[in-house]
Formats: sequence, C-alpha cells, structure tokens
Amino acid sequence: QRNNPNEPEFLQAVHEVAETILPYIDDNPKYQDKMLLERMVEPERTIIFRVPWVDDHGKIQVNRGIRVEFNSALGPYKGGLRFHPTVNLSILKFLGFEQTFKNSLTTLPLGGGKGGSDFDPKGKSDNEVMRFCQSFMNELYRHIGESTDIPAGDIGIGFREIGYMFGQYKKIRNEFTGILTGKGLSYGGSLIRPESTGYGCVYFVRSMLALQGDTMKDKTVSISGAGNVAQYACEKATEFGAKVLTMSDSSGYIYDRDGIDADKLAFIMDLKNVRRGRISEYVDKYKTATFHEGRPWSVKADIALPSATQNELNEEEAEILIKNKIMVVAEGANMPCTPEAIEAFQKARVLFGPGKAANAGGVATSGLEMSQNALKLSWDREKIDGKLVTIMEDIHQSCVTYGKQEDGFVDYVKGANIAGFVKVADAMLSQGVV
Ligand code: NDP
Repeated sequence: QRNNPNEPEFLQAVHEVAETILPYIDDNPKYQDKMLLERMVEPERTIIFRVPWVDDHGKIQVNRGIRVEFNSALGPYKGGLRFHPTVNLSILKFLGFEQTFKNSLTTLPLGGGKGGSDFDPKGKSDNEVMRFCQSFMNELYRHIGESTDIPAGDIGIGFREIGYMFGQYKKIRNEFTGILTGKGLSYGGSLIRPESTGYGCVYFVRSMLALQGDTMKDKTVSISGAGNVAQYACEKATEFGAKVLTMSDSSGYIYDRDGIDADKLAFIMDLKNVRRGRISEYVDKYKTATFHEGRPWSVKADIALPSATQNELNEEEAEILIKNKIMVVAEGANMPCTPEAIEAFQKARVLFGPGKAANAGGVATSGLEMSQNALKLSWDREKIDGKLVTIMEDIHQSCVTYGKQEDGFVDYVKGANIAGFVKVADAMLSQGVV
C-alpha cells in the first residue's frame, strides 16, 4: 500500500490473491523466506510513453501509452492492450498481475503483462484510429517481440486496431512475425480467437455444473456487456440449451423475456461491431424486450456472467442475485465483482468462478495462435475448439484440486489463486533471484 498510493484496483487484486496465498505459503516451507509474493507484486518493468497524433481537423492530440511487463517466469510477457478513457497505471497493473496467474493456469508457456492507453476509439474516424495506432506502435515496437512480449486486444481493441498496429510494426522492423495476437485470419490470426473467451467461460460453467451433476439446459442466464466476451458467451450458452435474458452496454441493459436467440444475437453483433450503436436500439426491433438504465443484476436468473468491465457487480447487487436463488456466477470480464460481492457469494455457497480461471480461454487461444505462427501453420476450427475445451476443463480441475473444502464445496477463488501461484513460484525459485 505504501509503495502504490492511488492504485486502488491494483491493491484490490493483490489483496484478493494474498488472502488465499499467504496461508498456503505458511503451510509450505519451500515458498517461505524467498520473498516470492513480494517479488510477484512488483512488475519486472513498466514503460510509460507519449502518444501524439493528429486528428481530422489537423489538431495535435496527446495520449499516454503504458505497457506493464509483469512477470516472465513462465514465458514471454503476454496480455492485452486496452484503449479506454479510464485506463491508468492502477488498472493496468491489476490486469497484468491477474494475467500472470491466469496464464499460469492455462499450462501454456506464457508470462504476464498488460498495456494500453487512455485513448477512446469511440467517436473517432477510421483514419484517426489508424494514426493513433501507428503512433502507439512507434514507441511500443522497441519493447515487444515474439520471444519477449506479445500483446493482444482487450476493451476497445479489435481486428481493426490490431491490424493497424501490426502493419506499423512490420513497416518499422521490416519483419513479419507474430508479435501480436488477435490478428485477422488473412495474416496469421487464429480461428476461434474471437469466440474463445466467451466460449471458454461457458465451458467453465458447464464443468462447474457437471461437478454438481447438473447441466446448462433450460437454465436462465444474465449477461452484462455486449462486446466480444458477452456476445460469444451468449452464443455458446444458447447452443447449450440455456436462455440468455440480458445483455448491456455502458448506457444500460436490455431484458428479453423470450431469450436472446441466434437471430437476435446476430442483430446485436451487427449493432455493436459494425454500426457501433447503443444496446437500447434492440428494443425498437424486438418487442419482447425492455430497456433499463443501470446493470442487469436485478433480473432473476440461474447463472450470471458479468462480462463488461471491472467492479460492475457490488455487494448489494450480489445480495439481490442471492435472494433470487442464483446458482452460478462466472466472471467473463476481469474482476467484475467487488471483493464484498465475492464474499457474499462464497458465504451463500453460490458457485463462483473468478475471472483468472473462467475467462482464461482467450489468452489460451492466443497461446495457440502463437504456436500456429511459430509453426507457420493454421489449424482448423475443430482442432482449436477441442484444445480450448480441454484447457478449460483442466483449469476447472486445477481449481477443484486446490480449492475443494472438507464439506465438498469448491472455493474456486482459492483454487485458482493457489494453482496459478504454484507454477509461477516454482519457476521463480528455479531461476534464482532475478
Ligand atoms: P469490448 O470492448 O468488446 O466490450 C466491452 C463491453 O463492456 C461493451 O459492451 C461496453 O459498453 C461495456 N463496458 C465497457 N466499459 C464499461 C463501463 N465502465 N461500464 C459499463 N459498461 C462498460 O471488450 P471485451 O468484451 O473484449 O472485454 C470485456 C471484459 O472481458 C474486460 O474486462 C476484459 O478485460 C475481459 N477479457 C476480455 C478478453 C477477450 O478476449 N476479449 C479476455 C479476457 C478477459 P459500450 O459499448 O457502451 O462501451
């Protein structure tokens, strides 16, 4: 706390991990005295840089770029870039710290990192977005590389932005290498990457329910967000026979009593990905739905998948979900539930899947994109989806191994934190004090 004033999100993430890791370290002497957790909470390197660009009126704009290279014990730094006005060092450090544990859980050789800018792509022309991305890469190129640091997309960054950044890197370096993931299919991207976080989250929920002898069929699902993660979580949940009742954006949420089926989801995808419109337009088209300001947690459902942003489900909302007999909450987004909300879920014995486990499918498939780039091969959908299913089931099993309580209840927070910690800690112990 003393070293990181004004970084509430980062402190929140560290506190959550430390609470479960410290008792484990106390019980396991080999992790004591090596200052492992102290070393893990300090990023290996943080780069902060100026991103100047010229808008369509010829006016110079300046944003801040950041890349936090958090931990490379298991492999090159890996984690997304976020373009959003709320981006700051605290948020990127929390995300980079979480990413280290998440990447460890995937069992792939990936270190942890995160980056981005306070640039807001909303309302900018295509040319402005391109000029910004080129300027961002004019500095970032010095710090990344296929064996060093391989960023990906996150909030505000899709195919368009990755394409512009990749093009600029190629121009500066005169090399065609897999230095970013989330690329377009025509130049080294992977099938299933867009779907992977949302699909992976639903695969994780399927495993949670299977352990209870249950399935997703006929369950009702409440989803927040209407972006990449939310869209594909909705698609897979519907495919598994569940009924998705809500989706949202930063203006509010829609509740569709008949469920958001494949056709309705296609409308949302076009609305958000192509026309870049607001979710409220859904109710103009579908009369079974209503639009509400705020967040969708007052809607009664069996499963909740918060998939928009951090701290979007608080204690009060958790209590409403519990009162409405929620069975499973799985985090599609990073840290969407506040610590108080998580505590309430755990106390009420609601099955709670933390983001570092439940949304690890995205980075896992990025790891598969890196493998394909290195092999100069493209795998088909079935192969990649099959690997994603296996990875999510393995992550679920790791959580059960380290998180199962005496009464049979699985504390997935504890399980994910310890399983993620052990692998990074063992690698750091082997590599000495570096
Ligand atoms: P997108 O940019 O595609 O979508 C984000 C969605 O969340 C949009 O609907 C957006 O609404 C909404 N949103 C963003 N900020 C806020 C806010 N402050 N309040 C309310 N709503 C908000 O992002 P992704 O779907 O890619 O990411 C969503 C979450 O999932 C993030 O936490 C991200 O870190 C996490 N994640 C993403 C992965 C991926 O592969 N994409 C991998 C692992 C985690 P609006 O349209 O109004 O902006």
